[in-house]
Amino acid sequence: MLVDVTRQKYPFSLPDLPYAYDALEPHFDQKTMQLHHREHHATYVKKLNEALAKEDALHQLTLAQLLRDPAKLPDAVRAAVVNNGGGHVLHDLFWNSLEPAPAKEPQGALAQALNASFGSLAEFRKQFSDAAARHFASGWVALTVEYASKKLAIEELKDHAVPRPGDKTAVLILDVWEHAYYLKFQNRRPEFIEAFWKVVNWGHAGEVFGNATSAR
Ligand code: MN
Repeated sequence: MLVDVTRQKYPFSLPDLPYAYDALEPHFDQKTMQLHHREHHATYVKKLNEALAKEDALHQLTLAQLLRDPAKLPDAVRAAVVNNGGGHVLHDLFWNSLEPAPAKEPQGALAQALNASFGSLAEFRKQFSDAAARHFASGWVALTVEYASKKLAIEELKDHAVPRPGDKTAVLILDVWEHAYYLKFQNRRPEFIEAFWKVVNWGHAGEVFGNATSAR
């Protein structure tokens, strides 16, 4: 089942993780998962709600609608909505990109599309890992699919920039902010990236890709 916080409206809420905090051990550690979800992600949701508390006119909009055209947001709340709303969307995608006992490889249409776009699964992983390792400062690396062209791409997202709602979505995403790995891996981001491949939820990625490429 795809639960997607982009459909939430004010007041926004933090979904539980779809697995226990220690379920991704030994690859992703319990303490980092707890802090990351209960403190970092929860704080983005809290600050998003605080920013919108007095903006009654925005309360009927979904998070996707709020983030689609930030230029249309009131000046006073634009940065807070982009940063914290983006953080809410991206962390939700991230938790759903992970799984305790994952399949080793993608299947079906996603596997075919990765081969067609990148030559092989190994080459896709290499390019994604390279992008994640080199991304400077805080941000994310995502495998995205554009609805119109159905094209896959590896994208670096700065801070909490989101793939534009309605145009594309992330099939798979990795948080490379330091808070995502520093407790366990310190400065060794490449080890964190290797751990990520051990817990990638290819089933969910395939489901997102299938919905994005068939329903339109
Ligand atoms: Mn994070």
